[in-house]
Amino acid sequence: MSDEQKKTQNLNINEQETIFHKIISGKIPSTKVWEDDEVYSFRDINPVAKTHIIVIPKKMHGLNMLSSAKEEHIPILGKLLYAVSLIAKQEKLDKGYRVVINCNKEGCQSVPYLHLHLIGGEQLGWPPTGKK
Ligand code: 5GP
Repeated sequence: MSDEQKKTQNLNINEQETIFHKIISGKIPSTKVWEDDEVYSFRDINPVAKTHIIVIPKKMHGLNMLSSAKEEHIPILGKLLYAVSLIAKQEKLDKGYRVVINCNKEGCQSVPYLHLHLIGGEQLGWPPTGKK
């Protein structure tokens, strides 16, 4: 198991104040990329590509992970994906990019607050499983 995989085994899905809550409230500084009334995005502290941006809902809506989604979450889930498309344009990722949502331990999620990774700015590899 890689260090990255090991880190995600400590995921506490009931954590009340995650790092991303602290980023939204300003307790932890972040490099803002884009925001509107519902969505906030900032540069990942440990980028895996030239461009690596995290996109989160400003309110958690009970979404500690994607598998917690209910029908009532359809508007915010759609909004997050649309926001990613706007951010990608702002970042001039016109040659392409990848959007990733890690879900729970086997998906390598480490922060229990729904978030999308926008990754690009260079040619990416595939597959993301670590296997050929
Ligand atoms: P996950 O593994 O949960 O899908 O992604 C969490 C992401 O949050 C990781 O890519 C990690 O580098 C990023 N991250 C963790 N803590 C911080 C922080 O304090 N600031 C920022 N900007 N990113 C963080």
